[in-house]
Amino acid sequence: MHIKGTTKLLGIIGNPIEHSKSPLMQNAAIEGLKLDYIYVPFEVEKDDLEAVFNGFKAVNLKGFNVTIPHKENVIPLLTKITDTAKKIGAVNTVWLTDEGWHGTNTDIDGFIAPLKELNRDWCKIIPLVLGAGGASRAVIVGCEQLGCQEIRVIGRNIQKLEAFKNSFADSNLNCQISVYSWDKLTNLIPDSELIVNTTPIGMYPNIDNSPLKKEQNELIKQNAIAYDLIYTPRPTLFLQQAQKRGAIIIDGSEMLVQQGAVGFEIWTGKKAPIEIMRQGLFQ
Ligand code: NAP
Repeated sequence: MHIKGTTKLLGIIGNPIEHSKSPLMQNAAIEGLKLDYIYVPFEVEKDDLEAVFNGFKAVNLKGFNVTIPHKENVIPLLTKITDTAKKIGAVNTVWLTDEGWHGTNTDIDGFIAPLKELNRDWCKIIPLVLGAGGASRAVIVGCEQLGCQEIRVIGRNIQKLEAFKNSFADSNLNCQISVYSWDKLTNLIPDSELIVNTTPIGMYPNIDNSPLKKEQNELIKQNAIAYDLIYTPRPTLFLQQAQKRGAIIIDGSEMLVQQGAVGFEIWTGKKAPIEIMRQGLFQ
C-alpha cells in the first residue's frame, strides 16, 4: 500500500474494533484495483461519536463502516438514511455528501446475496430465524425483500421477542413476524426450508456448541437451507450437522464480503472486486 499526499481516507468505527476483518478485506480491494485510498480501524467511545463525525468531516474522510455497538447510535448524527436502514433501525455504512453524512445498511444486501443464487420460491418459504438481536433485524428485512410472507423468530426471552416484533410496527414490512420461545424449536424445524442462526452459539472459541441439539439436527429437511451468520469457524457445528442431513449450507463469510462490497462501491464508485475481497478476508 502506497500512502501519498493524495490518498483518501476510509474506515470503520466500533468498540472493540481489533477483531474486525473489514480492514483486511477493504484494503485488499483497494490494492487490487490500485486505488488511492486507505481503510483504517478506529476504536470509538459512544460519548465521542459527535466529535469523531466532526473530525472525519474536517479531514475529508470519504466514508466509513459502523459496527457494534454504534449501529443505532450514529443515526441522530446523519442528515439522511435510506429506507432500508430505517426499516432495520441500524446503519453500517456512512458516506460524506455535500448535504452532510448519509447512511444505509448493507447487511441485508450481504445476507440475501448468496440466497439469490438459489432457485427457490421465496413466497412459499417461512424462514426460521434463531435469535432476535441486531443481525436478526437485517435477516428479517432481507427475508421480506426476498418475498417471504411470514417469518418465524425464536428466542430465549419471550418479553424481548415481543418487543422485537413490536419494534417493526412502523416499518411497513410486507410480511408477518411470529415469535416463539426456544422450547418450540423441535416442532418448528421439520417445516423449515430456511433456518438462519443469528445467535453467537458455535462461534470461536465455542466451536463445539450448536443452537440445535443432536436430536433436533435429525429433523432438518433434506434440501433445506441452513444459514449461519458466524464466519469463524467455517463451517460451524450447526452447518456441519445440517450438511450431513443433506441441507445446503451457507456461512457468514459471504454476507460479510457482500455487505463490504456494497460499501466499497458507494465510497469509490468502482465495481467491487469480490474475489479479491474474499481472499483478503482469510489471508
Ligand atoms: P446481538 O445483537 O448480541 O444478538 C444476539 C442474539 O442471540 C440475541 O437475540 C441473543 O438473545 C441471542 N443469544 C445469544 N446467546 C444465546 C444463547 N446461548 N441461547 C439463545 N440465544 C442466544 O448480536 P448480533 O450483532 O445480532 O450478532 C449475532 C451473530 O451474528 C454474531 O455471531 C455475529 O458475529 C454474527 N454477525 C455476522 C455478520 C456477517 O456479516 N456475517 C453480520 C452481523 C452479525 P438475548 O436477546 O436473549 O440475549
